Amino acid sequence: MTKANKNIAVIGAGIIGVNCAAELQKLGFQVTLLDKENIGEGCSKGNAGHFATEQVFPLAEACLLWQLPKLLLDPLGPVRLSPQYLPKAIPWFIKFIANMFASKRAKNGAALKTLNKHAIDYYKPLLKAAGAEHLLTTKGSLLVFEDSPITLVEKQYRHYADAGIAVKMLNREQTLALEPNLSDKIQHALFFTDVAHTVDPQAVCIAIANYAKSLGCQYRQFCVDQIKYNRDNIELSNSNETLSFDQIIIATGAWSKTLLKQLNYKLPLEVERGYSLNLSNKIVDDELSRPVASAERRFIMTPMAHGLRLAGTVEFAGLKKKANMQRADMLYQHAEQMLNKLPSFNAKEADDGQRWLGFRPSMPDSLPVLGRAPQHSKVCFALGHQHLGLTLGAITGKLVGQIMTDTATDIDIKPFSISRFN
Ligand SMILES: Cc1cc2nc3c(=O)[nH]c(=O)nc-3n(C[C@H](O)[C@H](O)[C@H](O)COP(=O)(O)OP(=O)(O)OC[C@H]3O[C@@H](n4cnc5c(N)ncnc54)[C@H](O)[C@@H]3O)c2cc1C
Repeated sequence: MTKANKNIAVIGAGIIGVNCAAELQKLGFQVTLLDKENIGEGCSKGNAGHFATEQVFPLAEACLLWQLPKLLLDPLGPVRLSPQYLPKAIPWFIKFIANMFASKRAKNGAALKTLNKHAIDYYKPLLKAAGAEHLLTTKGSLLVFEDSPITLVEKQYRHYADAGIAVKMLNREQTLALEPNLSDKIQHALFFTDVAHTVDPQAVCIAIANYAKSLGCQYRQFCVDQIKYNRDNIELSNSNETLSFDQIIIATGAWSKTLLKQLNYKLPLEVERGYSLNLSNKIVDDELSRPVASAERRFIMTPMAHGLRLAGTVEFAGLKKKANMQRADMLYQHAEQMLNKLPSFNAKEADDGQRWLGFRPSMPDSLPVLGRAPQHSKVCFALGHQHLGLTLGAITGKLVGQIMTDTATDIDIKPFSISRFN
């Protein structure tokens, strides 16, 4: 690093941005972390808290083609496309479908696997340095099945095992021995033994940001409306102020499209809106001890510091449409079917703070965009982490540090270049 490139801004203080800021500050850059909101208030706040390193399969899968029309048209189904939003979403869906071809899917899967493989190991030293080791729990997670035929469960088991994922297939008794509060409707489970969870995803962001600050990073609440790329600096401005930096990292998640357009990059990013419902007033200490996802109901329950969090669902409706909190409430009906005991929840009396809508930044090939901007060497992208931003935060920060210091990266980052769309 030279004096001329030391002063660096990270735009976006979600899980990706805070990880980049901490790593760059540790490497000796002078980092300013900018966000239009407070730290970890975007998609990194109310997510399921699952370090989901088992999820190495890209979302674009040919069998979805037959299920999509039914899935998309059910207003309270696990996947929903707002009819008004359809014209806007079509270009993304065309690219998504193109990624279903076996050769593309295999290539994307291989790249995702390299990112996911050691993702949790990258968090461990970081959280230790940040004094936040308690925010990572390594008890694995369960994918449970109620009425799927055993042949399908076995097929899924082999699918994961063949991909090198640490997984055990459990029968009902073995599953209930691990999680006694699960209903005995559960017939089978896949137990992912090497994955982890956190009891508070936003606290993870704040702890990492505080660690970055303790090393000298500065945080400013600042909405970047404009990026001006000059020969010697980059100006970030809004109607009140202009800030100048030697280099910038763009880690603005679902909001990245408009910023990248200013630099003339096409970014086929779509917002996958997801909901969570927080059940407070714990009724039992051991509601669950690890994340439990339902294969049939397509949602996940994670034990959090405040009680259980139910999370999931995908809604294509862009950034602006009002939240449909019925999608959060319906998660409770699913949880009721899966657990023996859970705190009561009355949608009419519920406090709005219990429900949350988040915007997943999703690329059609399920791979993030990572690396220097091809035509702007002082700009680096770290965005588009779809369903896996929490999981991939620490390894993304590490890679961004290696990119910005022009050192060899721990994994091949070519598959994540924005060049694949430009
Ligand atoms: C229901 C749900 C459950 C999920 N569960 C999991 C899970 O269990 N495990 C997992 O790994 N992932 C999960 N995810 C996905 C994960 O939450 C996201 O991938 C991740 O939060 C994305 O992080 P990010 O930092 O890119 O974006 P964000 O957290 O959204 O951060 C982007 C930040 O940029 C700021 N910003 C945007 N534009 C500007 C601007 N112009 N100027 C300044 N600041 C700006 C925003 O305010 C925001 O704070 C889930 C998502 C949802 C919705």
